[in-house]
Amino acid sequence: MPILRLAIPSPLRRTFDYLPPEGMTGEEAAGLRPGIRLRVPFGSREVTGYLLGLRSDSDQEEGKLKRALEILDYQPMISPGLLQLCQWASDYYHHPPGEVYPCAFPNRLRKGAALLGTGEPGWRLTPRGMGLPPGALARSPRQAQALALLQSEGAVTTARFGEQGIRRAVLRTLQEKGLAEGCLLAHSPGEVVVRPGLALNPEQTAVLRSVLQARNGFSCHLLEGVTGSGKTEIYLQLIADCLERGKQALVLIPEIGLTPQTLQRFEERFGTGIAVFHSGLGENDRCRAWESARDGTARIVIGTRSAVFTPLAQPGLLVVDEEHDASYKQQDGFRYSARDVAVKRAQLEQCPVLLGSATPSLESLHNALSGRYRLHQLTGRAGEAQLPSLEALDVRCKPLQAGLSEPLLDGVGTALASDQQVLLFLNRRGYAPTLRCHDCGWIAECRHCDARFTIHRGQRRLRCHHCGAAERLPQACPHCHSNNLIAAGLGTEQTEGFLRHRFGDWPVFRVDSDSMKGRHAMQSLVAEINRGRPCILLGTQMLTKGHHFPGVGLVAVIDTDAMLFSADFRGEERMAQLLTQVAGRAGRGGERGRVILQTHYPDHPAIQAMLSESYHAQARDILARRTAAGMPPAGQLILLRSDCVDAGIGEQFLQLLRRRVEPGLPPQCRLIGPLPSPMQRRAGKFRSQMMLTAPNRPSAQAAASQLVALAEELPAGRGLKWSIDVDPQDIF
Ligand code: ADP
Ligand code: ZN
Ligand code: ZN
Repeated sequence: MPILRLAIPSPLRRTFDYLPPEGMTGEEAAGLRPGIRLRVPFGSREVTGYLLGLRSDSDQEEGKLKRALEILDYQPMISPGLLQLCQWASDYYHHPPGEVYPCAFPNRLRKGAALLGTGEPGWRLTPRGMGLPPGALARSPRQAQALALLQSEGAVTTARFGEQGIRRAVLRTLQEKGLAEGCLLAHSPGEVVVRPGLALNPEQTAVLRSVLQARNGFSCHLLEGVTGSGKTEIYLQLIADCLERGKQALVLIPEIGLTPQTLQRFEERFGTGIAVFHSGLGENDRCRAWESARDGTARIVIGTRSAVFTPLAQPGLLVVDEEHDASYKQQDGFRYSARDVAVKRAQLEQCPVLLGSATPSLESLHNALSGRYRLHQLTGRAGEAQLPSLEALDVRCKPLQAGLSEPLLDGVGTALASDQQVLLFLNRRGYAPTLRCHDCGWIAECRHCDARFTIHRGQRRLRCHHCGAAERLPQACPHCHSNNLIAAGLGTEQTEGFLRHRFGDWPVFRVDSDSMKGRHAMQSLVAEINRGRPCILLGTQMLTKGHHFPGVGLVAVIDTDAMLFSADFRGEERMAQLLTQVAGRAGRGGERGRVILQTHYPDHPAIQAMLSESYHAQARDILARRTAAGMPPAGQLILLRSDCVDAGIGEQFLQLLRRRVEPGLPPQCRLIGPLPSPMQRRAGKFRSQMMLTAPNRPSAQAAASQLVALAEELPAGRGLKWSIDVDPQDIF
């Protein structure tokens, strides 16, 4: 009797063995294929398990093996390629397989429900039916005829049986005998309507040609194209080619980049056959979209991070738009990077993957420069638009009102008066980041975190942006009872108030996660902005991602300095990306746009670089410094974190790990820490971290395996929460 090796939803980094369900013969069990789901007992619960393979013996104690309760699918739900991808991700990110495989399934199916079905009703054989010799049913010719038809074609529509004169009762009898089962058969993919694209300019043409040349088999392409250079147009034309070859395309976009505009462009070009995964989908709609991707009815699949695990019947092309975006990295639980998983997936599925951005991550740039990825560049804007002019506005000694200097306010006034739209960037929501007592110096801080409360005046509340805690805005200082409380620092809410007052004749739209709740808020705002009437847009980075606002003539960064002195080693890179993306919103229509950076440090090298160099040149400089320091992408980084209610215990645990693992580390691997995390207390837990640096992937992986194996074994690790983060984005 074969033994079933399953992934079971559990935090343990291992698979589990089960016996086939009661009543199943060894032969039948041998026919079970990886990728099916089973209902199995686990502890005191019943859970959904995922079959990974069959084995002849188990390292679990033979007598203790439990039986699976029920086979939920006869056909694999996901392909061998996708199974392999999950296996790779589980290994590479050192995450429990039982929490990785479910990522390839919608919630409904994780709970064990059956497919909703997207196709035509039909019938197919069970494993028992497949193995039955044709003569076995000789005594009832109708059943034998039905069986023969199924055995020759695999699956047959109910309508087809009707044409052959086989009635439903005959099929039901086969079902009762366990030989056949009803199912829905995928519609044969209809004709896809592809409307003609734009005539490409010479740069775009060259890129398209060279990606098309590599379309058979795996290749990874980095498309570095300045904002508005027509990257999306290239995606669309590559997808058109992919569909014409009968294949499907998977397009990943950043979390808040799923703009109605993007979708509209796809719909205008391709009509139907697009499955979109967005946060607003209900459980059943999500499952239907998943099924249509799996059976091939959906020709194009668009989604954020988690969509990278969507099954595809005929994968032909993967696209990762804005590939530098931090939202591709999951920050808790299964800490994967959807961009990196996409590259691996393309390799397993043998199809091209295209990473696109105006501001590529240093990781991708490094891979492109070293020849692992192919680099394609678009240096000019598509069509008529020009890149904007950039200037630093020295605000030293200049009076600021809600963060805005007089010369900037003049610029805003002039732009509005000449019928332009203005975009102001301030990456801090709320009214002010600090509430301080002017008499005694008390500062309002979150009870659960090492962080200050942000003032939200509209809601009359103090809110913690790290744990979500909120309190009423106090009238008096709890310390000295003075009423002399002052709001220190600047947030969008405050600047919005000032702008409304100062530019009363023009509408002011605030765009941040407080003001834009729900998918439709952004949608209606975008519609309003694209009517083109002059207005002021004030927002956080929500406003910068992927939007195409042709009416914006002036863009200003209110607090450039906030980005200058970051403690994160990615600070410089993030600043160059963010500023380039913000600036890229200017002048996408006809006239040349203007970008103003307010700063107290106009001579700072990062500001100077921004003014005089392309993103590409800046990125290469930053890359050279990272390489010299042995930091990613030149070296590898892995972070171990602990978080627990007692500050000492987590640190002791990491310390113990270090002492045990350090002597056996691969050469040139180093452990740094444990140290308290830069924000030590968050949501009531004390956080410590230990960093592993390694010269290359194999030694980083070897060291990580040692650390994880030991951490799982140590009794000290059981009572606390620890996690491992491979290629961390965020070291806080
Ligand atoms: P990106 O994705 O690089 O920001 P888009 O593909 O959105 O750029 O293109 C920016 C603008 O230029 C869009 O309005 C698009 O319709 C237009 N555009 C793109 N390619 C061309 C082209 N070959 N000819 C004319 N306009 C183009
Ligand atoms: Zn006080
Ligand atoms: Zn908090």
